[in-house]
Order: sequence, then structure tokens, then C-alpha cells
Amino acid sequence: MPDTLDRLKTILGEVSDLHRAGAVLDWDQETYMPHGGVQNRSKQLSTLSEVAHRRFISDEVGRLLDEAETQVANLPFDSDDASLVRVTRREYEQDRKLPPELVAELTRAGSTARPFWQQARREANFSLFAPYLEKNVELNIKVAQALGFEKRPYDALLNRTEPGLTTDQLEAIFAELKTAIVPLVADIKRHADAVDDSVLRRGFDPDKQVKYALETVARLGYDLERGRQDISTHPFSIAFGPGDVRITTRVSRDFFNECLFGSIHEAGHGMYFQGVGRNLDRTPLWDGASPGVHESQSRLWENLVGRSLAFWHHFFPGLRETFPEPLKGVDAEGFYRAVNKSYPSFIRVEADEVTYNLHVLLRFELENDMLEGKLKVRDLPEAWNELFKSYVGLDVPNDREGVLQDIHWSFVGFAEFPGYTLGNIISAQLMEKIRSDIPELDLQIERGEFGNLLGWLQEHVYKHGRKFTPGELLERVTGRGLTPKPWIAYVRQKYGWIYGLDQLEADAV
Ligand code: ZN
Repeated sequence: MPDTLDRLKTILGEVSDLHRAGAVLDWDQETYMPHGGVQNRSKQLSTLSEVAHRRFISDEVGRLLDEAETQVANLPFDSDDASLVRVTRREYEQDRKLPPELVAELTRAGSTARPFWQQARREANFSLFAPYLEKNVELNIKVAQALGFEKRPYDALLNRTEPGLTTDQLEAIFAELKTAIVPLVADIKRHADAVDDSVLRRGFDPDKQVKYALETVARLGYDLERGRQDISTHPFSIAFGPGDVRITTRVSRDFFNECLFGSIHEAGHGMYFQGVGRNLDRTPLWDGASPGVHESQSRLWENLVGRSLAFWHHFFPGLRETFPEPLKGVDAEGFYRAVNKSYPSFIRVEADEVTYNLHVLLRFELENDMLEGKLKVRDLPEAWNELFKSYVGLDVPNDREGVLQDIHWSFVGFAEFPGYTLGNIISAQLMEKIRSDIPELDLQIERGEFGNLLGWLQEHVYKHGRKFTPGELLERVTGRGLTPKPWIAYVRQKYGWIYGLDQLEADAV
């Protein structure tokens, strides 16, 4: 009997090795692999994921889980072993419902679709990508049906990514956000002149930017002994284990925000990975709690820290030394205002904090409509443009700046976009608690001290990995479930100050 848990951990360790080997291949595909490698690479990835899946859903794992459940029955809920068995059981039951052929097909379809999405995006021609997206929608429906759902297919997919959250709950959150954001956007529009961000487009040497970004994230706490930064079209972070957590960035001479904030964002994910307890390594617990909680860390570091006035009071003098020409005549507060300028824009990843969630809401609605058969893939660009006009107020000029902008629909997994909005909400909810635990946080940031903040996050969030569902984690840490209220209060206060919107400041709760 005492061997049961060891045997279970051995198998889970092998499954984790297979996934991580796949991650190395993924990283390579996104950074250095020549175009010609796509076909072989997609086969390699689908083989690895199928082997890992078969290993995981084996009858032996089922038997070991049965026995292990008895063994851990009296252990505390948050103990490593009880959590391991509980979370593994949840995933085991879900994964058993997915036939291995379907899993291999999902990986293959994603990897095959990607170059067509890239080409379609380059040429701003949706029809090149449409057949692959059609296939992906079909596969998502198959997955939802295999997993089973009571009300809506989206629930089945969401339950895999954000366990405990339902589509209806998400709709309610988005509705509350929309009610708060739309009038705020309108108010900001009336005060648009209050912020001039032309400084960001004065030309910043790309090599210096990349170096500066890496130095900055190292100052925040991203450990370069266990990390590195490369360039990719779409920035991402990826972990091969506690000792190797990588980030990528991209750089534009003519827009400062892209590289630095992209790097801080990915380093936020990276610090989360680097902080997960080594005791959980090579188990299903070694990762962030969910995509939404992961995103809360990238957004917390990127926005709540990196786009704060305290941050720029500390970093601006060094930035001006690095880029004396473009920053001539600019001060810390002016730069802070510039990097926070809010205006309707086409591209989600470049959107400011206020309008960002509208971009996510649009994708959430379209995914639901496609899954529920209310929207045909061929009508997607038109539906996109219409919704975009009604939410963000702009006419989409072409598919590249519209429906083709994100890589996500080239992978099969739907229900990933809500994680971005959940990330924003959770980051503010955690920050509210952090501020009550570390009242001098802003002073520390102004002095360039991030150790207390990182330590708090490690202690309360990072080290637990995937032991808790997002809801359980929030209850434990903040004493209440998911709520958009702290985020709404945060943007109202911040943008009220930046744009001089007295009314909204007074309204802030
Ligand atoms: Zn992210």
C-alpha cells in the first residue's frame, strides 16, 4: 500500500516529462524553427501528446487513484498528497472522456492550422484560414460533447480551463464590466486631450529596448539563472520545469510600450512559474492555478506595478539615461500618463486597461455563437466587425486588424479568452488584499524594492501551484469569491486621476 502514491507519482512524472518535451518543441517552433519544419513538428507534437494522454488515462492510474484516495482521506485538504490525488482525479475523469485519437487530432489540427493563420493574417485574407477554423470549431464541439455539459457547450470547455466557473457567471461578470466601462470610455474620450503619448513614438533603438526590458524584469524578480528571453511574433512564456522558465518579447522602434510591457507581462507569468513549489514538480500540480489566475500575475506586474506612478518615479531616471534623445523634456509623471493613455484601438494586446475587456467580451460572445451553431465561420469577419463597432466604436479596416489578429483560434482550444478578463479582475482583487497587508507598497516600489510584493505572491499564490481552483484560492487569500468590483474601482480611480474625471472619482466605490 505505501507504494501506491510512489507508483502514481512515477507515472505522473513521466506524463509531465512528455508534456514538457512537447513544450520545448513548441518553444522552438515559435522562435527559431525554419518554416519547412512545420509538418514534421506537428506530427512530433501530436505523437507526444497522444502518448502522454494514453499514459495518463490508463486503467492503472485509475486503480492507483482509487487506492490513493483511501490513503489520503485523513490528510488536510491543502496537503501535497491530498491535493495531488484530488486534482489528478478531476483531470483523470475529464481526460478519460476524450478518446486518444481525438487528442492527437486536436494537437495536429492546431499545429497544421497555425501557418495558414499566419499567412492569412499577413495577407489580411480570412478565407485562407476559414477552412481550418471550421475544423477547429467542429473539434471544439466534439470535445464539449465528449466532456458533457448541462446547459451550454462552453461550460464543458470552461470547466477544463477554469474549474468551478460557468458561462452564465461569466456573462454576469462581463455585463457588470460593460456597464462600468462604456461610460468611462465615453468620459475619457471627452477628455482625450489630457494625455499626450507622442513621446512613445519618437523612435527607441530596438536592441537597447530588448536589453532594457530584460534588465527591468530581472529587477522585478524574474530569475535569469532559471530563465531567458527571446524574440517571437506573439510574446509568450513557457516552462519546462522549475529550473527553466522562458519568456519571449517583440520590439518596435516606433512604439515603446510593446517591448517593455510585453516583457513585464511575460515575466509576470514567468515569476509565477518560478515560484511554484519544487515539492510539486513533475506532477499535475506544478503550474498556475488556471489560465485566469496565471493572467492575473502577468497583468498585476504589467499594469498594477509597471504602469503605476510609483514605478515610473523609480525607473524613469534610468530610462532617460538609456534613451536620452527621445525622452528629452519629458518627466516621470508625463511618461506615466503617456504609457497609460486610453483610446479605442483595434488590437487586443495593445489595448489600454480600460478598453481591454471589451475586446475579450467580443471574442467570448463570438466563440459561444460559433459553438452553439448561431454563427457560421464564413460569417465571422462580418459579425466581428459589427460587434467591434458597437463595443469599441471603430470600423475595422481589414481582417488582419480584426478577426485574424490573435493566434488563439489557430489552436483548437476555445474558452481561453475569458482568462484575460479574469486575470484583470483577479489581479485587482489580489492587489486590494496586498495593499492592506503591505500598506507601504507604493513607497517600496518607488525605492525599486519588489521583494516584499514578490514574497507575498509566492507565499499566498505561487507556491500552491494548482492545488486550489481559482475560486478556492480567492476565498483563501481574499476571503471572498470572484468579483469585478475591485477592478472597476481601480480603473475608475486611476483613469479619473489621469484624465481629471472628478465625477467618476467621486463615484468610485
Ligand atoms: Zn498573458
